[in-house]
Amino acid sequence: MIFDVIIVGGGAAGFFSAIQIATHNPQLKVVILERGKEVLTKVKVSGGGRCNVTHAEFVPNELVKSYPRGEKELRGPFHTFCSGDTVAFFEDRGVALKIEEDGRMFPESDSSQTIIDCFLAETERLGIKVNTSCGVKNIKELSSENSSWEIETSQGIFQTKKIVISTGSNPKIWNQLAALGHTIVSPVPSLFTFNIKDIRINGLMGLSSPAEVKLIDRKNNPIKLENGQKATAKGPLLITHWGMSGPAILKLSAWGARKLFEQNYQFKIQVNWLPTYNQEEVLSDLKELKTSEAKKLVFNTRPFEIPKRLWFKILEVSGITNLHKWAEINKNQLQQLSQELTEATFDVNGKSTFKEEFVTAGGVDLKEINFKTYESKICKNMFLAGEVINVDAITGGFNFQNAWTGAYIVAKAITEVA
Ligand SMILES: Cc1cc2nc3c(=O)[nH]c(=O)nc-3n(C[C@H](O)[C@H](O)[C@H](O)COP(=O)(O)OP(=O)(O)OC[C@H]3O[C@@H](n4cnc5c(N)ncnc54)[C@H](O)[C@@H]3O)c2cc1C
Repeated sequence: MIFDVIIVGGGAAGFFSAIQIATHNPQLKVVILERGKEVLTKVKVSGGGRCNVTHAEFVPNELVKSYPRGEKELRGPFHTFCSGDTVAFFEDRGVALKIEEDGRMFPESDSSQTIIDCFLAETERLGIKVNTSCGVKNIKELSSENSSWEIETSQGIFQTKKIVISTGSNPKIWNQLAALGHTIVSPVPSLFTFNIKDIRINGLMGLSSPAEVKLIDRKNNPIKLENGQKATAKGPLLITHWGMSGPAILKLSAWGARKLFEQNYQFKIQVNWLPTYNQEEVLSDLKELKTSEAKKLVFNTRPFEIPKRLWFKILEVSGITNLHKWAEINKNQLQQLSQELTEATFDVNGKSTFKEEFVTAGGVDLKEINFKTYESKICKNMFLAGEVINVDAITGGFNFQNAWTGAYIVAKAITEVA
């Protein structure tokens, strides 16, 4: 079983690289080895079954900003294959994509099966062999001089000149790669929601409001990220049955993935429900209302653009009832109200899985990859694409874009020299 290229892992990056290799050089004998009975299983469940294939951010230098790990390294690769190229790839094969309001891109069919069908049709058309139930057990460098590979699988031994590792976040393959000399950045989960039990969000399930959220530790100090920046995110915040979710929270879960893991997911967040104001500005507006609206019931005025249910809840926790008039609100209550609106602090105890998308931060150290080819700097003729490397993104289609870009560049490198 000798091939020109063996791809280990029949997921997003594996299929995309196989298709690109065979498209650029149909002479090459390519096989995908997949340990599962099915291929593309994550694509199937992705985006809640709709597959958020990429994001409508077409400028490489802007696109990289969504990658807590990989921002610097992906700049070059995105100049070679960006989200616009992903759109073109699918449209050329009859899969129209649509852009949602928040920039996420899905197949028009709203079904991940459309993407799977497209990949399977391409592999068949191009004569790419796909071996399922073929788990890779051992990867051995045959000779360091001409660097070819022997791969031991549940279906026997395979040999190849070039190997592409696209096994996602698989610990066994990471161990193999470590044995071959790679450094593996320890894996931790990313993209999760925060578990919060707090009377201030009781009964508000399903409510979404724009907010600015800061990560703080149990001693109320801002949590600093690896690069020394403060962990802050703006965007819609969604109150759920278990606590808080929505883009603002998911972004923080990604940027803070490692720090929050270190804190065993016991930390605090500070929420500003009025992200364009600070506490002093809100206090000053409230003081003005106390005079200008003196005779009016506080419950009947909603001076800020926040959902009614949230406003009522904040009034309630600030000790203001539906009988209070503005004139009756004392200094302390105004202070508390302004604080609840702009600096509300919540204890987070644990995390929950965000069902639509999750990803692992960690993997092969980026210093050990040549980002012009995605070849390992440690092992010649070994290429790595997708989640197996230490790149991950916030939610929104960026994680698949990492898989498509890496896979495209791997294919380009392999076919240019083969
Ligand atoms: C529920 C969910 C929803 C998601 N939704 C989205 C989304 O909508 N948009 C987005 O951008 N990202 C999404 N993601 C993230 C995205 O799925 C991944 O980033 C992406 O699949 C990574 O592609 P990959 O090819 O590197 O790995 P994978 O897709 O995980 O593929 C790896 C493959 O390798 C195989 N494999 C592993 N070990 C071996 C072995 N020893 N031998 C042979 N085969 C092996 C695995 O079985 C698997 O098929 C989602 C993730 C999850 C979990």
